[in-house]
Amino acid sequence: MFADLHLHTNFSDGTYTPEELVMHGQRHGLAALALTDHDTVEGCERMAAACATVKIEFISGTELTAEHGGHELHLLGYCVDIKNQTFLAEVAKFQIVRQNRIREMVARLNELDVPLQADTVFAIANCRSPGRPHVARALVQGGFCANLDEAFERFLKVHRPAWVPKFKMSATDAIALIHQAGGVAVMAHPGLNRTDDIIPEMVAAGLDGIECFHSKHSTATSEHYLEIADQYGLLVTGGSDCHGMNKGKPLIGSIKLPYQHVEKLKEKAAARRAELAASAGTMRAAH
Ligand code: AMP
Ligand code: ZN
Ligand code: FE
Ligand code: FE
Repeated sequence: MFADLHLHTNFSDGTYTPEELVMHGQRHGLAALALTDHDTVEGCERMAAACATVKIEFISGTELTAEHGGHELHLLGYCVDIKNQTFLAEVAKFQIVRQNRIREMVARLNELDVPLQADTVFAIANCRSPGRPHVARALVQGGFCANLDEAFERFLKVHRPAWVPKFKMSATDAIALIHQAGGVAVMAHPGLNRTDDIIPEMVAAGLDGIECFHSKHSTATSEHYLEIADQYGLLVTGGSDCHGMNKGKPLIGSIKLPYQHVEKLKEKAAARRAELAASAGTMRAAH
């Protein structure tokens, strides 16, 4: 039994609906799937329902964009309570940040004589967590760029003329936010962010796991992070980071995480929820 614990839908910058993604998961014979859209959990209900119909286990999740000491890092939050009000209120703030950033990027494009409109980008994104890939799609659809790569190269990559820095939540706050929603906090694709030096600080802040297997990790990179997981007693996770048809071939199926890691993840989440319930009980008793 295998799992893919890093997947995106059109509730952020993926191209598949939750139902389409589950269909692909089924085709690849995956036993468990987690949805990890950027700064949102909106797609989880539909994905859970789609998984239930084909008897695939569903793990709720999100991928929070965060920063620590000037480094950007992504934190996966697994098994979060998708109705947790504190969590929803906090991610809503970062969705507004994303929406305002789209307006700023469009304004920069307009200054560069690219007459794109923010509403065009929002219509393409059709979600609360829009990002640069949606601007790129709008640039291609409007005939301003030949393809998505050109859109990033010319305009959207870091320090390119339409790039706008993003205000991010602190990684320690992100971990706490995931924890208070009953979730498990995992550092995403450490091999891409090159954040090894901050791992000890993240562990001190309560990091629960590390994504050792990722479609952009080489075998050597995965082995390196398996050693780090072992050294710090962190959970091991893995996923394809499939964004659908964005970049040619869909990545789902490229990572097959052995199910034993899902079991450990669920044990951790169950322990966290028991802890939260116990402390809520203590608080009630004190009143
Ligand atoms: P954002 O969250 O708005 O900063 O956008 C980040 C997303 O843009 C990530 O999901 C990446 O997959 C995508 N992305 C970043 N850089 C590039 C690039 N050079 N070419 C294509 N996609 C990119
Ligand atoms: Zn993405
Ligand atoms: Fe990421
Ligand atoms: Fe991702």
